[in-house]
Amino acid sequence: MSAHEKELSIAGDAQKMLRYAKEENIETVWDRLHAQEPQCGYCSLGLSCRICTMGPCRIDPFGDGPQKGVCGADADVIVARNLARTIAAGASAHSDHGRDILEALYHVGAGDTESYRVNDEEKLKRLAAEYNIKVEGKKTQEIAKDLAWEMMEDFGTRKEELTFLGRVPKARRELWNKLGITPRGIDRENVELLHRTHMGVDNDYVNILLHALRTSLSDGWGGSMIATEVSDVLFGTPSPIASKANLGVLKPDMVNIALHGHNPMLSDVIVQAARDPELQKLAKEQGAKGINLVGLCCTGNELQMRRGIPMAGNHLMQELVIMTGALEAMVVDYQCIMPAVVEVAKCFHTRIISTFDKAKFTGATHITFDPRRGVEIGKEIVRQGVENYANRIPDRVRIPGNPTEMMAGFSVEAIIGALGGSPEPLVDAIKAGSIRGAVAVVGCNNPKIKHDYGHVTLARRMIENDILVVVTGCSAVANGKAGLMMPEAAEQAGEGLKAVCKALGIPPVLHMGSCVDNTRILVLAAALANFLGTDIDKLPLAGAAPEWYSEKAVSIGAYVVASGIYTVLGVQPPIFGSPNVVNLLAKGLDDVVGAKFAVEPDPEKAAVLIRRHIEQKRQGLGLPSVDAESIPMPD
Ligand code: SF4
Ligand code: SF4
Repeated sequence: MSAHEKELSIAGDAQKMLRYAKEENIETVWDRLHAQEPQCGYCSLGLSCRICTMGPCRIDPFGDGPQKGVCGADADVIVARNLARTIAAGASAHSDHGRDILEALYHVGAGDTESYRVNDEEKLKRLAAEYNIKVEGKKTQEIAKDLAWEMMEDFGTRKEELTFLGRVPKARRELWNKLGITPRGIDRENVELLHRTHMGVDNDYVNILLHALRTSLSDGWGGSMIATEVSDVLFGTPSPIASKANLGVLKPDMVNIALHGHNPMLSDVIVQAARDPELQKLAKEQGAKGINLVGLCCTGNELQMRRGIPMAGNHLMQELVIMTGALEAMVVDYQCIMPAVVEVAKCFHTRIISTFDKAKFTGATHITFDPRRGVEIGKEIVRQGVENYANRIPDRVRIPGNPTEMMAGFSVEAIIGALGGSPEPLVDAIKAGSIRGAVAVVGCNNPKIKHDYGHVTLARRMIENDILVVVTGCSAVANGKAGLMMPEAAEQAGEGLKAVCKALGIPPVLHMGSCVDNTRILVLAAALANFLGTDIDKLPLAGAAPEWYSEKAVSIGAYVVASGIYTVLGVQPPIFGSPNVVNLLAKGLDDVVGAKFAVEPDPEKAAVLIRRHIEQKRQGLGLPSVDAESIPMPD
């Protein structure tokens, strides 16, 4: 193995495929990053603006050149507007996903689809109660329709606050009210943010950023939360389940179909379609032993959490999976799908099948998805994959190694269930100090950070120091591949956490789902705070996104901090052109919402920042703690 691949990724399967890409001269995301370097300094600092055609404008960070855009906007306003628009884009992506799922629930309620049904009736009724919907004497279908209708109101402008705010500790709701950042409507906050950041509207960087927080809260406690909860109703609330991960989940003698993106609506019907006896027979006629579905990114997480479908890889693996030469089809829905997959697929027999009319890819086969004909469309997609098996070139098949075993399925319901029905045992373990606290390690990969290194290093340091780790998104894939999501990984934890994991039979790193499922973490944090009669910011909790890249990750980070959880980012956001904005986010917010951001690319150092923070929170609660400053920072 040459040093080159080892510098790019810690994952063995990725390293092997990267060497192959080099031999075959196939371009990857790392090559394209290299070709872009040096990247624009103004943009990296957030100091460029192209909101209007009096511009584009840029501010000279060294003070010699222009300090104002043509309209007069200074560095603070430009940086704040750029960041706010990033949050609006991320929140919109999550929330639009939530609305798509909600429309599927509505179709179930209206009786115009047979592709979906209510899978978790108890959860449907619980949600109906939260929305003040009477369920007595009503059929399940009717409740589904009424709930979908009421949830759609959360997207609009007629409410004073989102319904799920009923889950938020009272003190936090009062704080949001006082600050004027209580989210009212999901679409409303996003539209208002785009309005405020139009030239000549909101020209106060603090005011812009406060509304950006409000918009992110409409994602976390709104659009994303609806996506998660309604997905549980339709596809089942996850419970612990065995699965596997890495490129070794591809089978050399089967039709391999990868499901990539975020929305479980499409992948669920593909799972149904792949079981169809006629398609199974067709696969055998083509010479394959059967049909093997594998996941990528968050569509993969949704499938793994509920069905145990194996996971081929995370964000930076999407091109490499095609290079195995064993993939008949990559079926994509939306978000985080690089346009480059179409180009890589041209070098192999893989067919890229796009499915949502809002997410077309030039050069891909497009099959329009419609939830009312879900299974029928799913069968057509699977058929195309099966028929493509005949085009596979056996000599070009390279499946690197064997998959790693992992456990998924830790919804809040599953975690509380494992604790015996109440958060009390977890709270007791935290009070006693056997668990010091908990950290959510979430988010993407980014070729600027060694692939998976940030996620796995941070998770390891956390569990070694008795901090329970919950993961979502691409972080879950990284940690699953590293073997940290099996109960045996408890051996790598500190004595206190090890004992708790062994008693409960759980891994020290818990898979809580996809990116929209970060809301499960909010729900768990709120449940702990409510149980203790306190606010979330008082708890020994932290968040981290060691390898983030996407606008959605910025929205997640913003709603996590606005909810009271300290968050460490591994990739520098483009805000450093404004010392005032940096100061507000990394310091001032602590006095406003009780939490702040930190930026630390080195996961060893990030681990120390989080450990210090957790000890400070323990001290604040009067729990046994160590002096935070006594935890040494590595050089
Ligand atoms: S909004 Fe102002 S700073 Fe931005 S491009 Fe227009 S003139 Fe330049
Ligand atoms: S964690 Fe990031 S890269 Fe991975 S699927 Fe989610 S948003 Fe995309």
